[in-house]
Amino acid sequence: MSDIELSNRQQKIVEIVKEREPITSEQIAAMLKVTRATLRPDLAILTMSGILDARPKVGYFYSGKSDINLFSQQVKNIKVSDIMSVPAFVTEETSVYEAIVTLFLEDVGTVFVISSKGYLAGVVSRKDFLKSAIGGTDINKVPVGMIMTRWPNIVTVMPDENALQAAIKIIDHEVDSLPVVEKERIEGKERLKVVGKISKSSVTKLLVELCRE
Ligand code: ADP
Repeated sequence: MSDIELSNRQQKIVEIVKEREPITSEQIAAMLKVTRATLRPDLAILTMSGILDARPKVGYFYSGKSDINLFSQQVKNIKVSDIMSVPAFVTEETSVYEAIVTLFLEDVGTVFVISSKGYLAGVVSRKDFLKSAIGGTDINKVPVGMIMTRWPNIVTVMPDENALQAAIKIIDHEVDSLPVVEKERIEGKERLKVVGKISKSSVTKLLVELCRE
């Protein structure tokens, strides 16, 4: 099957056919409270792509071949802004000690570091803290800005990217979480405002929700 993007209505049609096959287009139209004419292009796409089989005078059947594809479609239809969580922040001047306290209090594995003007400056995670401890850093004196991974070496995601794109970035870059950012141009320079966070937990939660549906 080709990798087509299914609309929400097309996904609903597939769900209906799955449950009630064989079912006629009149019956599907009645269930969705639309006219048959409205459904015609959707049904054409679904039969041409092999998701549904149409048998004259009987109705539509689900071909059963496309579960995986539908699942990836559902994930692609979910936006980062739908599943992002609230991040924990510290400023660059915060001591490593205070940042570790924040990590515990907020129950997170990664803390985002923002500049005094509120823009993304870096990211600091468990391994960074462990490295600094092993390296003998004076955690009460050294600011977190000294040990963080610094912008622009940060992998970010935008609110309107989809959940699969975010998950791929997490896997490809081998990180636990991504700052969700909106880009702003200030005095000709690009600045990133952090509006959320996508972590391995956000993606795992989504997986569980979709499978339970
Ligand atoms: P952990 O430290 O718990 O293993 P990560 O695997 O996310 O967590 O972090 C590994 C390294 O990658 C750390 O040095 C951290 O600063 C850095 N890092 C974390 N998130 C990002 C990100 N989104 N972009 C770039 N680097 C990151």
